[in-house]
Amino acid sequence: MQKITTFQLTMNFVRYYPVAGLAFFILWIWKKGYFQRFRIQQAFPRWDRVRYEIIQSAVTLVVFTAIGVAAVSGRKAGILPGEIYRDADKYGGWPYMLLTIALVTVWHETWFYWMHRLVHRKGLYKLIHLVHHKSTNPSPLAAYNFHALEAFLEGIYLVLFTFVVPMHFWVILGHTFYAMVMNIWWHLGYEFFPSWWASHPVFKWINTSTHHNMHHAKFDGNYSLYFNFWDRIMGTNFPDYEKHYAEVTERRFKANVEGLRPI
Ligand SMILES: [Zn+2]
Ligand SMILES: [Zn+2]
Repeated sequence: MQKITTFQLTMNFVRYYPVAGLAFFILWIWKKGYFQRFRIQQAFPRWDRVRYEIIQSAVTLVVFTAIGVAAVSGRKAGILPGEIYRDADKYGGWPYMLLTIALVTVWHETWFYWMHRLVHRKGLYKLIHLVHHKSTNPSPLAAYNFHALEAFLEGIYLVLFTFVVPMHFWVILGHTFYAMVMNIWWHLGYEFFPSWWASHPVFKWINTSTHHNMHHAKFDGNYSLYFNFWDRIMGTNFPDYEKHYAEVTERRFKANVEGLRPI
């Protein structure tokens, strides 16, 4: 158990802080002037807000580790159902592994959307979700800035999924890494997708960094994760999302007041 804990704790910390930290260093410090034209909100938050995000992210990483260790130990002890397998051929190789990637993505999207709607309800919001929303202008380190209770809800979906669907060890590792990188992407504070993205008939179904940034700035809309599916069918996208996206992405083409040359 000690070995599993050390492995998971190290993996969680070693992949989160360097990736989020590198994005922060390049965009917010080193090339800050150059990337200003890609910023979603022109202003920057106070340093003590970013420091809070950095510290609170450690709480989330510890909770994620606890969930992972409990799941592995519980399965080994025969208390929990489900299977994490290592022999890639066991369920027919790549086709099954790709299928589980698709299924876990759909499940994560659905779990996140409805859990997110729930924690925005009065009573639960203050207790669970307020910590994440203290960042109205998030930095990449806000990605895991969760209250411990929310960190539990953010991580438990994967354990529930493995109760039903056997997953390959590397698929789990790949999925959690992808989910982490995307989460950092949505909290960058910068929009790098092309200006036509949010109004394109196909690509508009994939969420942008601006989409989640609006959620932090305005709270009661834009709840979804990877895809814009649930927000569109439930009517919870901010009505001005596409207009705001166009304004954000137009700025990069203007020789504007900050003295930037058009690119
Ligand atoms: Zn929220
Ligand atoms: Zn967020």
